[in-house]
Amino acid sequence: MTEVSRRGLIGGGAALAGGLAMLANQAAAQSDTGGGTAVPPEEMLGKSVPFPSFRFPLGSITAQKQYPGGWGKEVNAQNFPPSVAFAGVLMELKPGGLRELHWHANAAEWAYVIDGNCRITVIDPGGKSEVLTLSAGDVWFFPRGHGHSIEGLGPNGTTFVLVFDNGAFSEFATFSITDWFAHTPLDVLAKNLGVPVQTFADFPKQEAYISLGAVPGPIPWPPAPGSLDTPPLTHGFHLLAQEPRTYGGGTIRLVSEKEFPISDSMTGALLTLKPGALREMHWHPNADEWQLYLAGTGQMTVFGSAGRASTDRFGKLDVGYVPRGCGHYIENVGDDELQVLLVLNSGTYQEISVTQWLASNPKSLLANNFSVPETAFDGMPKGEVFITG
Ligand code: MN
Ligand code: MN
Repeated sequence: MTEVSRRGLIGGGAALAGGLAMLANQAAAQSDTGGGTAVPPEEMLGKSVPFPSFRFPLGSITAQKQYPGGWGKEVNAQNFPPSVAFAGVLMELKPGGLRELHWHANAAEWAYVIDGNCRITVIDPGGKSEVLTLSAGDVWFFPRGHGHSIEGLGPNGTTFVLVFDNGAFSEFATFSITDWFAHTPLDVLAKNLGVPVQTFADFPKQEAYISLGAVPGPIPWPPAPGSLDTPPLTHGFHLLAQEPRTYGGGTIRLVSEKEFPISDSMTGALLTLKPGALREMHWHPNADEWQLYLAGTGQMTVFGSAGRASTDRFGKLDVGYVPRGCGHYIENVGDDELQVLLVLNSGTYQEISVTQWLASNPKSLLANNFSVPETAFDGMPKGEVFITG
């Protein structure tokens, strides 16, 4: 629940009035910019304001961060107002491009390698560290605050997507080692690290963010002897290597806390749909859903109660969003396979599907509900379909 809606519910009239004033302000801001509505969905529930578009063209915006070693482009609640629960970053690193040592204070980081090879390093609060080489189809998860880095490897570097479980998060306001060092007196650095002050003369004077150095050595790269004390839970997972659940119209590979124990606040999935197939009508009681369309052409409808539904068409590197609890379905409306990466902000995967719900109710009740004869339900599925076809 957003702060506004929480206060509206708990705090009574004055707080509710404040919330409504904020809605009005957002609507005004919206009409100034001429885009889709800027009202976050949770604040819309139970109100007669129009439903927004749930699509953001991440692939086609200009990268906000560009360096010789790579680039990053970001979507969060600031440029995509419905996305109150998630921020996403598409990033490319050249071979030897390094997303420097950093950590995040207000979000966990879930990532999927779209292309190429990379090396991640991470340290946990117990002082345990891990160095992993990951490739296309692999996932990593860094709990909030774990220090980490990402480096592009040969031959072609890497492209990946980062997903953060906080829409107010910005990847471009993270805690970087160079930024901290540049804002620490040199005598403190010298005292802390046990070397002469002049050691730091040529260190960066501001945040490096992405640096570019020599292409790292062959895989597996040997870490310095004694430098690693492996953590009890690995930060990496080979999602594409997992045997998928297969349906007539497509497949799903799911990685929740059950399969990947360190990922205790996020679940990911890779969905494929054949042309014409439908990922059936469902909702998630416990999570918002963030999507990155990787291939093909899809169409998603989000149902938001009070007669509202919003339909968008998605192509490669478009982002989709579904507020917690809202009904939705995805169709492959193109001629090629549709591939969608799905991320939910709970380590436990939950869903309720329309087929399963109808099948679990007596036909007499359904006949009453829809005011049609019971025979209307004779041919319907006896359990969950998940993907049609
Ligand atoms: Mn990070
Ligand atoms: Mn879903």
